[in-house]
Amino acid sequence: MTTIDELPDFPHFTGMALDRVSVERKDADWVARIMADSTAREVIAGRDAVAVADDGAPEVLRLAMTETPAEPILLGVDAAGAGLFAVDLDDLPEHAHPDDNGAKIISLRDAGSQLSPEEGGLAAYAVALLNWHRRHRFCANCGAATTVAEAGYSRHCPRCGAHHFPRTDPVVIMTVEHDRRLLLGRRAGWPERRLSVLAGFVSPGESAEEAVVREVQEESGILARDAVFVASQPWPFPASLMLGFHAMSDGGEPRATDGELEEVRWVDLDQVRAALRGEEAEFLLPPSVSVARFLIERWAAARGD
Ligand SMILES: [Zn+2]
Repeated sequence: MTTIDELPDFPHFTGMALDRVSVERKDADWVARIMADSTAREVIAGRDAVAVADDGAPEVLRLAMTETPAEPILLGVDAAGAGLFAVDLDDLPEHAHPDDNGAKIISLRDAGSQLSPEEGGLAAYAVALLNWHRRHRFCANCGAATTVAEAGYSRHCPRCGAHHFPRTDPVVIMTVEHDRRLLLGRRAGWPERRLSVLAGFVSPGESAEEAVVREVQEESGILARDAVFVASQPWPFPASLMLGFHAMSDGGEPRATDGELEEVRWVDLDQVRAALRGEEAEFLLPPSVSVARFLIERWAAARGD
């Protein structure tokens, strides 16, 4: 049986190694110098995809800067001090497509499972930041077109003066346990036989712990209690932060109450373990790139024999 020590300490998409230079990036002259330096590189990412180079060990493609963007989006600087900038795949001229440079575009999910934690984290970061810019070209306050500020860490409205900052939407996701069984559900549209833990967005005016109890109750009718934080994961599809919890329950018969799930039920520990080994015929668990899998693996490993 897998022990907890054998499992990864952190979910996929965490481990990004760049210095985000939160202070220096406010200095336009400093950013211009970093951008003009011959060590500057650009990372190309789309809505849920990233360009990678693959010479044995795949990594995020880093191209020499082809031009000086008027509105640079600086991801950060690496350990050698080189600046890394994000470029939107949608904005690339046809001739500059990375496919023509010995690289390939892979989905962000594949990046999470195929790249190292540092590189997977970088991919998630670039996609998340570009997704935010893509969706916030206009001021939420007055509707005017906004401009990039702080080398990509904010947008400014020249009409009303509002500053907008990259947002990430908190989602709670939780293992809920009763009597060595786990509460699992299935959403419409998921791959056949897939079951996973429940999840939902945190509401305004609500703590994450309160969101755990509410979501479980809404989706299954089950009362959860004693929610304890386990781990978090950036999930830029397009802009979420997954907050992973474990909670207990006194049991009861789960029912899909709010229409979000087409099935919800308790699953025995032995069946969960078999599914993790790929030996359960009745259902499948989510892929390893997800924090759902991370939480389920840790739950099963921590239960003992
Ligand atoms: Zn405005």
